[in-house]
Amino acid sequence: MPEFAALIQGYRRFRSGAYIQQKERFDRLAEEGQSPKLMVIACSDSRVDPSQVFDVDPGEIFVVRNVAALVPPFETSPGLHGVSAALEFAVQFLEVRQIVVMGHSMCGGCKAALTRELHGADPGEGGFVADWIGLLDEVRAPIACKHGIDGRRAEREMELAAVRVSIANLMTFPCVRTKVAKGTLKLRGAFFTISDGVLHVLDEQSGNFAPVE
Ligand SMILES: [Zn+2]
Repeated sequence: MPEFAALIQGYRRFRSGAYIQQKERFDRLAEEGQSPKLMVIACSDSRVDPSQVFDVDPGEIFVVRNVAALVPPFETSPGLHGVSAALEFAVQFLEVRQIVVMGHSMCGGCKAALTRELHGADPGEGGFVADWIGLLDEVRAPIACKHGIDGRRAEREMELAAVRVSIANLMTFPCVRTKVAKGTLKLRGAFFTISDGVLHVLDEQSGNFAPVE
């Protein structure tokens, strides 16, 4: 497979380049374990890699990526809660100090949440995605009402709303809520626009996103 061969080529570059340059760091991380102070929740989209956007070294950020960078609410229902497990580990064991939710422009997951094009699909045929982005159903309604379900304006509103939903859902986790109240954990929203490579940060007070100077 040429795609995998390209990965192996990349690995060889890493092995003779970045790995050698960071050998001491890797040795230390192997010996002492990881202790990242930041958790990043981002979309699986191939264009928005948090390590690249934030230019961080190995060991610096604990990352969860999924469709549309979503955090589900705290649930104890049966099922396998992958995001909740990662969150629990980051907050309770790694004791990260900040959690950054990073959404992005032209997000396919958010677009599908808006159009509901996968609604009713069987699992494996789009149904898993449809269920997952159903997390945005509540915020979808007013956006669809105001801006319709297509066009960049509606899509952007949906993408920004998704970051706010994830942050609100983070606060439904008792461990997060407690630490935020104590001031030992801070939640932050961010948004990356692919077309110009600009990061926008959510202002807690106003609820608006502003580009980083
Ligand atoms: Zn996305």
